[in-house]
Amino acid sequence: ARQFTRPLNDLANQFNTLLSAIAGAERVFDILDEKVERDANIDSDQLPSIKGEVVFSDVSFSYEAKEDKQTVEHVSIKASPGETIALVGPTGAGKTTLINLLSRFYDADTGVITVDGIDINRINRDRLRKQMAFVLQDTFLFQGSILENIRYGRLDATDEEVEEAARLANADSFIRKLPNQYQSMISYDGNGISHGQKQLLAIARAMLADPKILILDEATSSIDTVTELRIQEALTRLMSGRTTFVIAHRLNTIQKADKILVLKDGRIIESGTHKELLKLRGFYFELQNRL
Ligand code: ADP
Repeated sequence: ARQFTRPLNDLANQFNTLLSAIAGAERVFDILDEKVERDANIDSDQLPSIKGEVVFSDVSFSYEAKEDKQTVEHVSIKASPGETIALVGPTGAGKTTLINLLSRFYDADTGVITVDGIDINRINRDRLRKQMAFVLQDTFLFQGSILENIRYGRLDATDEEVEEAARLANADSFIRKLPNQYQSMISYDGNGISHGQKQLLAIARAMLADPKILILDEATSSIDTVTELRIQEALTRLMSGRTTFVIAHRLNTIQKADKILVLKDGRIIESGTHKELLKLRGFYFELQNRL
């Protein structure tokens, strides 16, 4: 059985690499072109249970080697296990890039990123990403049943575990209303399922995967109020006990964060809690008025 499931796991891993790519087609090509990995010398047994501490130390990065202005400049972040870090700032500020660096879709030019004190350049990419779950604006769904789509979060999960994850994600109730419930088929792009319901499935997947680090890219498109409340509640449950990096758009999410990092032109220009930042009457304060 092992021989049979192994390629399946490998395939899923490769798939994972592709679908976790945050920025679409361009990124996919980057990954396909990826150079042979250097220095991924952490023994595979050394990471099974991390706490989820994440530290960026003076990290700088450019997508193009010869750019005079760097995309991320001298960024330092410390996230203790379980903390929520909200990344806010205008489009193009570098929020997604920080996430790309943490998940090793790109490697920092200078500076170091560590997870539980280990330089992530020493951790194999797939292994690193196994420590993370992604709930992004667009949830990748494949042609298959709802059950299979959730199980994608952890391939060896039982049906009961999948359903439990769906319950925790507030997805169970809509699934049970479908004609074939968990066996309902969805087409490759999730036709017939609303944007909000896709988010609930992504949360269920993440629940099932149960990693210590969570990456959220909050939806900007509108979702009906009832589903939105379900999503918020499920996310709060999901985030509990996990280090969360959230590219935040909702005031509610931002206010609850342990730390808000305000990015502009690739730099952290302000950081603190919501209250602290409002007191500064600086960029964050101005940003608030536009939310
Ligand atoms: P944010 O998430 O805050 O909107 P990004 O991190 O996506 O910002 O982008 C930061 C900067 O990097 C932008 O100027 C953007 O155009 C550029 N950028 C993003 N992705 C790429 C890429 N794959 N190649 C080159 N430049 C990129």
